[in-house]
Amino acid sequence: MANRLEGEVAIVTGAAAGIGQAFAVALAGEGARVVLADIQPAQNTQTLIETAGGEALSVICDVTSETDITAMVDATLKRYGKIDILVNNAGIYPIADIEDTDMALWNRIIGINLTGTFLATRAVVPTMKVAGKGKIINISSGTFFMGSPGLAAYVATKGAVIGMARSLAAELGGFNIQVNCIAPGLTTTPGVNNGMGDEMRDGVVMMQANKRREVPEDMNGALLFLCSSDSDFMTGQVMLVDGGAARN
Ligand code: NAP
Repeated sequence: MANRLEGEVAIVTGAAAGIGQAFAVALAGEGARVVLADIQPAQNTQTLIETAGGEALSVICDVTSETDITAMVDATLKRYGKIDILVNNAGIYPIADIEDTDMALWNRIIGINLTGTFLATRAVVPTMKVAGKGKIINISSGTFFMGSPGLAAYVATKGAVIGMARSLAAELGGFNIQVNCIAPGLTTTPGVNNGMGDEMRDGVVMMQANKRREVPEDMNGALLFLCSSDSDFMTGQVMLVDGGAARN
């Protein structure tokens, strides 16, 4: 199935590690040229892509910064002349009970997960409208369907990006731009490795129908489907890829 995205240009935010890294490698593996937009250097991702014969451009970009987003989109258009795909993946998920969520933490979570999705989307839509095509994929979370505790601010943002996708699907459908979401279950990534112990992760596996830990590559099939013409008549939807954890 290689080269489904030959000639396409994709931006992946948060592409230096974890799910974003796996997405960037998968998109490049299908022939897309991939812009790796992350607050961290994405050299490892770029090396993985180039070693496999693909092409990538790394841009340091804090998705909460309008200036960074504008510069990243400008750099993409300067290098490749178009943007076909945006994957809004950058996100953080600090665990905190509601009474321990101060304004600084609330604003940080909303800023990266929700405002970042808004800013990146707003920046790519004009060029997609002119091209008459585009694919925007927001990374939500299975926690929105599970109602996972200790994550109220995070889960609020992950519901919000679904809401944003549903509204934009209607707003942009006439321009042949599809806006969908992927909702991962608990997935082994550097962010999760740093923040969650084995007990919590084993507990999630118990709730899943598939009895193993999810890895980023488990979502590649959904991602490539949503980025390819195979999904052209599907918009405003959520693909829940969580091993069957949230099935009620
Ligand atoms: P991760 O391992 O922490 O990697 C995320 C990458 O995004 C990191 O390089 C991170 O840099 C970067 N980033 C953070 N803030 C940024 C910003 N303001 N601008 C640009 N880049 C930024 O995370 P992940 O586990 O792969 O998660 C990726 C996405 O999937 C998130 O939206 C998350 O909510 C969602 N998700 C994850 C899981 C899971 O279990 N892993 C489940 C459901 C949904 P730093 O290292 O400096 O933070």
